[in-house]
Amino acid sequence: MIENNTLIININKNNYNKIIKKTRKFIKICDKNNLKFRYVTDLNNEELKDIEKAINLKDKKSRYEYIYDKICFELDKKIQTNYCEFENDICIKYRNKHKNHKNGCCECKGRGKCKYLIGSTCTMKTCMACKLFTCKTLRKKGIKHNINDYIIGKYFFTRKQKDILRYSFWSPKEIVIDRLLKNEYVKP
Ligand code: SF4
Ligand code: SF4
Repeated sequence: MIENNTLIININKNNYNKIIKKTRKFIKICDKNNLKFRYVTDLNNEELKDIEKAINLKDKKSRYEYIYDKICFELDKKIQTNYCEFENDICIKYRNKHKNHKNGCCECKGRGKCKYLIGSTCTMKTCMACKLFTCKTLRKKGIKHNINDYIIGKYFFTRKQKDILRYSFWSPKEIVIDRLLKNEYVKP
């Protein structure tokens, strides 16, 4: 239903999955017709608030920044659980292989030490690709991340944009957002 220049969608626990799958369609309708978007619901659901907020950010850059920050925030929460099992700056992968290798994959044989790594700490902090990455050792333990795990990641980006997010390693947010806007991936 469209009312007061707003696309209004009823969503509840019974139709939730069906309605969520239509997110891309709602984005398209609202963007094309410059409509606002609102759910009518009794669910207190963070994902729904994110979708509303993102659709209502009509400026693409603001929208992408919002989604980017939201996903990074969730990834940071997971990373803070120390699933890489760092002890004295040595992660689980290297503990089993080269005991003296510090800083995990922020430092590796071919590439050397990442320029953003200072004193074993990432000073950049805004690279989504680095946050999404898990090595084979972790993946074998079932620890992996996917942009599609997040509804706002799944429905607001094209396949190419998801690749930009996945593979823009060692790149600050501003650069990645610029790539998303240009829909162009440049190897770092
Ligand atoms: S992703 Fe793997 S290699 Fe990188 S820090 Fe974590 S455990 Fe180490
Ligand atoms: S940008 Fe990525 S590789 Fe570099 S220090 Fe930060 S997390 Fe590590």
